[in-house]
Amino acid sequence: MNITELARKLKITPNELRQALPELGFHIGPRAIQIPDKQAEKVVGAWQKKRDKELSLQKIKEKISKRAGEKEITETDKSVFIPPTIRVYNLAEKLNLPITKVIGELIKNGVLVSINENLDFEVAAIVSENLGFEPKKGEPEQKKSNISIEQKIEQILLKEHKNKLKPRAPVVVVMGHVDHGKTLLLDSIRQTHLTEKEAGGITQHIGAYQVERNGHLVTFIDTPGHEAFQAMRARGGAVADIAVLVIAADDKVQPQTLESIKVIQQENLPFIVAINKIDLPEADVEKIKKGLSEINLIPEDWGGKVICVPVSAKTNEGIPELLEMINLVAEMGKKRLIFNPLGQVVGAIIEAHLDSGLGPVASLILYNGTLKKGDNVIIGESYGRIRSIRDQFGELIVEAEASLPIQISGLRGVPKAGDIIEVVANNREFKKRVKQMSAADIYQKEAEGGMASEQAKNKVKWLNLILRADVLGSLEAIAHSLEKLEYPEVKIKIIKKGLGNLNESDVDLAKTSQAWLIGFGVEIISLAEQLANELNLKVSTYSVIYDLIRDVKERVNELLPEKIFEQRLGKVEILKVFQSRANEIILGGRVTKGKIVKNSPARVWKAGEQELKGEGKIGQLQINKRDVEEAKEISECGIKFISRMAIDIGDILEVYQEIKKKKGLDKEG
Ligand code: GDP
Repeated sequence: MNITELARKLKITPNELRQALPELGFHIGPRAIQIPDKQAEKVVGAWQKKRDKELSLQKIKEKISKRAGEKEITETDKSVFIPPTIRVYNLAEKLNLPITKVIGELIKNGVLVSINENLDFEVAAIVSENLGFEPKKGEPEQKKSNISIEQKIEQILLKEHKNKLKPRAPVVVVMGHVDHGKTLLLDSIRQTHLTEKEAGGITQHIGAYQVERNGHLVTFIDTPGHEAFQAMRARGGAVADIAVLVIAADDKVQPQTLESIKVIQQENLPFIVAINKIDLPEADVEKIKKGLSEINLIPEDWGGKVICVPVSAKTNEGIPELLEMINLVAEMGKKRLIFNPLGQVVGAIIEAHLDSGLGPVASLILYNGTLKKGDNVIIGESYGRIRSIRDQFGELIVEAEASLPIQISGLRGVPKAGDIIEVVANNREFKKRVKQMSAADIYQKEAEGGMASEQAKNKVKWLNLILRADVLGSLEAIAHSLEKLEYPEVKIKIIKKGLGNLNESDVDLAKTSQAWLIGFGVEIISLAEQLANELNLKVSTYSVIYDLIRDVKERVNELLPEKIFEQRLGKVEILKVFQSRANEIILGGRVTKGKIVKNSPARVWKAGEQELKGEGKIGQLQINKRDVEEAKEISECGIKFISRMAIDIGDILEVYQEIKKKKGLDKEG
């Protein structure tokens, strides 16, 4: 074949072909014009292979440069920034997916890891890609908080039909320093502003409630302080629309006030300051406003933008005005306070616990969609088919729309505050996901304990704790240290943590879960203490973290299962077999090693100790016809051996003792 003809066939110039031929392993001389047909065929094949290889290399390069962020890529809602290494837990958080889903995907890819393990970028990127994301290397600071639930909702809403959108009630969270009156304020709002229909009804504490003011509904997250809020933030963003910052008028801006402000500012939450306890003679509203100005929060009447409402949670003075202001702030942000009742369900868990009658129950607020009885749901690491939905009055309802606080039952496992609810409409898909979750769960157990999964599940003991501290810093530090005390056989579960004194609702929760109530730098209020005593619940308070950790360690040690260890005592060689009855034999022997002790178990070996014949027990022991407790090395003795097997001269009895020991956590720090 002509070189020119071959080049045309390969869609290159004859010169290019001449240059490429040696690379492909063909040497035909620089001036040749002809190439034998057979060889030409081989050249075509080799050229094709070269092209294929180049193409796939090109694709890989593109992928790599895309990941490395070298190529400019437009960001989509599927973009996710992944740092060089990331923990499995954080990756799930970033992707806004249940951890089990991520672990499931990793397992599918042959990567076996536990929640806390670090993945490098490549692995994390592959998994994210398989889960439908577009991973990018790096983590620009501002992008960090980008995948908040609010934005997710906005994205969803944008995609859904605008004409289906309905307004929803604002969700309000009350924050502030301990003892500034958050709980009482929430109580007084609840009592004074129930909707008319429900006034007189008894509200259940389900973690959130809804009230009405001038025809407008407002939903309050009933868990005061940061507790629920912090947990939610840790899992992907704010779930409240407005914050009320409580500051006691007889006090001043305190550490937790500052912490609250930090959270509010990070979340970009509209907020109102409720200056509380104005009924007290020592109340000084102006002093509080001055304190606020000093941290650059200038009150409206001082020429700034911060709305301050003086209130008394005790006398209810100012409460209507506070609600008015909430309505006003909601009105200003009403573009965001919408939802699509027919859209995808988005909601977050406010509180969850194990109810003695209903099993795991979870209180939640939806931000989009409608949740119905019978829906298949996945919530963090728990799942189920919704068996019942109750409103804040404990009344059964069949479906719930956005902003309505509800409590659901029918779950397997207790979800965590802040977990996001997901409805999986397709039954098969649901089953598949659940299966994946249990696979991940089983793997998790195996990774942690190295035990057979089912066995591990049954053997695990839980040490439930309710933890309260004076400041967030110590609370987090203690929780973090406690998490490290885990053992495969004993798991520590902090079922609730919060700031401030241990109270009745803590005791109530402790009752159902048999939890140990622990306070750090705080106390238990006396009524709660009485209740805890009556219920025989353990309560401990500490002022030194070391002491707290030491005691918890001790308790974990107590719960650890005992392991049976074998201690070998000695051996005796059988010299005579005297008499044999149904289940005992009289033997004569010589102790060849160690000692043998009355009432100890013994293994019977054939002479030479190569073959095990069975087990028995040293019943009675005699030396020179006198009963003894033990016989030492070289002594000859008579043994009443309890066993059904035949024993021959020359057999060896190996005598041992069983000792129960705990694996035990170390006693230090
Ligand atoms: P929290 O820790 O912020 O939830 O505070 P609490 O609601 O538990 O209130 C702490 C203490 O302040 C309790 O003894 C309340 O009775 C009291 N308290 C709360 N609000 C008021 C108020 O408006 N006036 C007065 N006089 N006492 C209040």
